[in-house]
Amino acid sequence: MLPFKVEFRYTLKVNICMLSRYYTLKQYLQNRFGEKLHRVTLEGGFTCPNRDGTKAVGGCTFCTDDGSSSGARNPAHTISAQLADGIEKQGKRFGINQFIAYLQSFTNTYADVDYLRTIYNQAVSDERVKVLAIGSRPDCVPDKVIDLFEEYTARGLELWVDIGVQSSHNKTLDLINRAHTYEDFTDAVKRIKARKNPLLRVCTHVILGLPEETPEMMLKTAESLAEQDIDDLKIHQLCIFKGTAMEIDYLNGDLSVIERDEYIKILADFIARIPEKVVIQRVMGEGKVGELIAPEWADHGMKQKFLHEFHKYLDENDIRQGGLMAPLP
Ligand code: SF4
Repeated sequence: MLPFKVEFRYTLKVNICMLSRYYTLKQYLQNRFGEKLHRVTLEGGFTCPNRDGTKAVGGCTFCTDDGSSSGARNPAHTISAQLADGIEKQGKRFGINQFIAYLQSFTNTYADVDYLRTIYNQAVSDERVKVLAIGSRPDCVPDKVIDLFEEYTARGLELWVDIGVQSSHNKTLDLINRAHTYEDFTDAVKRIKARKNPLLRVCTHVILGLPEETPEMMLKTAESLAEQDIDDLKIHQLCIFKGTAMEIDYLNGDLSVIERDEYIKILADFIARIPEKVVIQRVMGEGKVGELIAPEWADHGMKQKFLHEFHKYLDENDIRQGGLMAPLP
């Protein structure tokens, strides 16, 4: 009996060690594609209805002039040229052969379908692209655009629709000038998931620490999202960037940002309320070089330190995604 017991306990220990406390993008990509794919971020040259006056002017109060871009590619180049450049650089650097083409900044579904098709075709013009990720907003995903998405999934590509919602509270969405409602978001998710297409994934973006939001309100957003059929989630803390409307409020003392330890606690409680099947693609936002005003703990190069502290907190408090720990005291 002894050898059996020893072997069983060893196997159990190995399995527990292999489990992360939340479902990371790295794990998903490894399971799905056998390796960690890297993103090639592409600038599609779009604008946003929240900037051009169709829905509002000025944009979301946290959004930078470049539409919250990572600034990775030169928008003066064609999408195909940006893709080729990104694949060459990342392929050499990471030794990988599969990529995510990511149309990130502004609203990459905000155009005529024929024009969108031209842009998307270029974004997947290299057969090493396995995923097309498209950044959008809840009120810019009409059914004809979902039809277009399915042209790509029919070719075997995964299509990730990145939909920023940021909060489930309409009062907050008004405060930050999102010019859409939470109901716009649930409607978009319902229509996308009604296709029952496993290659068509919804990735939702949320910001913790938005103006006038209490920890209880943020956790309510987690509970609301848990009721939606989302596949992926990107979470980050409120960042104040140079040139944004929030910069003025912050410098005037009318707006504050969340401290790191408080963010870690709320973030842990947040993911404990998110179903285990949801891939947590991001847990913090790192500032671009020279552009972040606050918080300083999230400046460029600080991500690994943050992740170390976050994972330590999860371990010390035995918190797991979907664990539904008790509400904040
Ligand atoms: S919807 Fe996106 S691109 Fe448009 S203003 Fe807001 S954050 Fe910027």
